Amino acid sequence: MPEKYHIHTKPVPPRLPRIGKHGIVDWREDCARCHNCVKKACVYDRYRQEAQYIRTLEYSDFLFFECMGCLSCVQNCTKNLLCLTINSEYEKLGNRYWTPEIIHSTWQQAETASVPVSGAGYRGKFAGHGFDAMWTDMSEIVRPTRDGIHGREYISTSVDIGKKPSYLNFENNGGAVQLPAIIDIPMPLIIDMNPPAYGRPCLEPYIIQAAAQTGLIALVDSGKWAAIDGDSRLQPIEQYLPHIAFHLNPDAPELPRAALAGTKLVEIPDGEKALDTMAAIKAQFPGMIVSVRVPLEKGGTERAVALADAGAEVIHVVADLNGDEIGVDNPRFIKDMIRAIHKALIKGGRRDEVTLIAGGGIALPEHMAKALLCGADLVSSFLPFMIALECRLCKSCRPGQICPARIESISFEYGTGRVRNLIAAWHLQLIELMGAMGMREARRLRGDVGRAMFFEELEEDIFGKIFGTRKRT
Ligand code: SF4
Ligand code: SF4
Repeated sequence: MPEKYHIHTKPVPPRLPRIGKHGIVDWREDCARCHNCVKKACVYDRYRQEAQYIRTLEYSDFLFFECMGCLSCVQNCTKNLLCLTINSEYEKLGNRYWTPEIIHSTWQQAETASVPVSGAGYRGKFAGHGFDAMWTDMSEIVRPTRDGIHGREYISTSVDIGKKPSYLNFENNGGAVQLPAIIDIPMPLIIDMNPPAYGRPCLEPYIIQAAAQTGLIALVDSGKWAAIDGDSRLQPIEQYLPHIAFHLNPDAPELPRAALAGTKLVEIPDGEKALDTMAAIKAQFPGMIVSVRVPLEKGGTERAVALADAGAEVIHVVADLNGDEIGVDNPRFIKDMIRAIHKALIKGGRRDEVTLIAGGGIALPEHMAKALLCGADLVSSFLPFMIALECRLCKSCRPGQICPARIESISFEYGTGRVRNLIAAWHLQLIELMGAMGMREARRLRGDVGRAMFFEELEEDIFGKIFGTRKRT
């Protein structure tokens, strides 16, 4: 049996004061001086930590906002003196899709490499936009895979990238013809390039190092080759090349042959000549897998299917950062576009012959599992790895503006440690999800909508007969 996939981690504390959601306020005037003060009973020990923080205050503009919001102290104070406050800085984090909750939980995961704990239970809605309109079905009898979560059985999170034949072909009564090359990666995730709106921080060194430590692959714009090759922290560069997939930017200088030869996967932008370019690369580098990047704009889903019909082996479809179809008035969400492509590929009898990578809006590990259930083979994402470095997704990610997360000054150890920890936390949560669904193989998640429930479908089934089909606005 191959060695079990395990990521070695250690905690990497934040450099800056955390921007938590809750602070605790008390009014000492009426304090009864109980012998059993609720503050001493805080399960997270926050009051003692707050006192310590105030004694060693480095940033006078940051208050202590690390309360977990369990409300235990508020409910149990005999004089009702305590109340929780909401931190206004917290509410300013991110945007409507990359919510403060997502950013905060990503920080926690990057620090601890473990499954985040909210401390306050789930008090949100049970359905919403995007991936929140989809639930995974955890009603299986899951004993065997619960064992997997605790390490007694193995849950495999590996997936393949590359073309797989739909059937075995035997020529002249001999053995099966040679199978095309595939890449086996230990998690259904590749790390994408900086999106243009967040192109300011140069995170490649940390991301490439973390990808090498975790066995994953990072997509890197070929225009950044000179910077990577010249980075003393990434030497010898040859050992990192298997964990890099260059996106061949047509405006960048050509890559040296040795750099390309060391990689296993390369990406090209879509265009009229995409398949000719793919054939030329494969002729030069037999065994190289070529992915075509298709933006999910108007006609993007149809284009992805047409490329598969024409022989593309890997298609990387990318929606906008919030997972929406790009540049259309009534955009579809990434999960619906993945389902449309997956179904069309099945209909055309080509599903196994192409690997579908889906990016855009993948913000949480549950999104990775849900995208697979919709029909992707694996996902790509970038912003969570930038958030791992205490980025707040502010609106000033441009040269000349001050980065509130001071990302330019992070150390190599901190940067790689936080990215690696986040990958490990996503891996743990994928195993948790798969265990709860009764699944032992990430490859089997692909398109298994029987393990998922969709809000629109349930609503149509239950209420459609009474009120008619909901109109999309
Ligand atoms: S609300 Fe809970 S976590 Fe916060 S200070 Fe009170 S007991 Fe501690
Ligand atoms: S905190 Fe703002 S400026 Fe800094 S990396 Fe994040 S988005 Fe960019």
